[in-house]
Amino acid sequence: MESKEMDYQLAIEKVYSQISCAENIGEVATYIPELGCVDPAKFGVSLTTLKNESFGIGDCQEKISIQSIAKVLSLTLAYNIKGQELWKRVGVEPSGTPFNSLVQLEYDQGIPRNPLINAGAIVICDILLSNLKDPEHELISFVREVSQVNEISYNKSIARSEKSVGYRNRALINLMKSFGNIKNDINQVLDFYFILCSIEMTCQELSRTFLYLASDGVDPISGKKILSLSRSKRINAIMQTCGFYDEAGEFSFRVGLPGKSGVGGGIMAVHPERFCIAVWSPKLNKKGNSYKGMKFLEQFTTETGLSVF
Ligand code: GLN
Repeated sequence: MESKEMDYQLAIEKVYSQISCAENIGEVATYIPELGCVDPAKFGVSLTTLKNESFGIGDCQEKISIQSIAKVLSLTLAYNIKGQELWKRVGVEPSGTPFNSLVQLEYDQGIPRNPLINAGAIVICDILLSNLKDPEHELISFVREVSQVNEISYNKSIARSEKSVGYRNRALINLMKSFGNIKNDINQVLDFYFILCSIEMTCQELSRTFLYLASDGVDPISGKKILSLSRSKRINAIMQTCGFYDEAGEFSFRVGLPGKSGVGGGIMAVHPERFCIAVWSPKLNKKGNSYKGMKFLEQFTTETGLSVF
């Protein structure tokens, strides 16, 4: 079906009502205490087209902890600063292991497989710390600029909560530091990483923010160039192959869009040249991806025929 003929609101509503009735399997992420407080029944969807038409249903106007979805924003910022140099510090291969796994890092001598797992995003944070004068301020300004929402910020209680239980992230950063792949003080890098993960947006803001990846690196609404064409394609390639950790193959197979998930239960996915869609449902499957979020997107791309394949 052609996008011009597509009634996105109708398509979203139809799939939403189907998935709302389906059982809601999985667990809310409780390893970060603050995230465990969220209502597991929440369910929202928003889709924004390149022409800035916005469609939504359910809890799509509620702020959510975007968690690892923010790793795409830190990657965008770092890629623009370092260019090709970036790939000396972090790879572009799927990990096939959980988002917080330590196993591979030892074999790979402290070079994370990709920038969308925790270890990779921590290295990106280290790079940003080395290259920005006021990293926290510059990160948040960048996110506000890309989203075109001035009040976007991070949730301090969630950042504190993550810090209080950040044992695995601490293990990852120590291991990478021992291999020489972390240049700054590990506490500063982790504090910055927790700020990144605790950024909050609504589904509507998420589907607006990542339009640049559906539009060759240019924000189709403001006309601002966020990334070059080649870099935008490459970030989509990394999302397609690594955006869902050890479930990236499954997501490609079932949904067929480049995207990124977070343990807050959010998923954003882009359809190049058409739209960006964001779904939120807090219960996660065993791989740490939103159970209903994946179900919704699978059904949506099946019903509409709109995937990249
Ligand atoms: N802040 C989370 C963590 O570091 C992010 C994980 C995720 O969203 N997959 O564990």
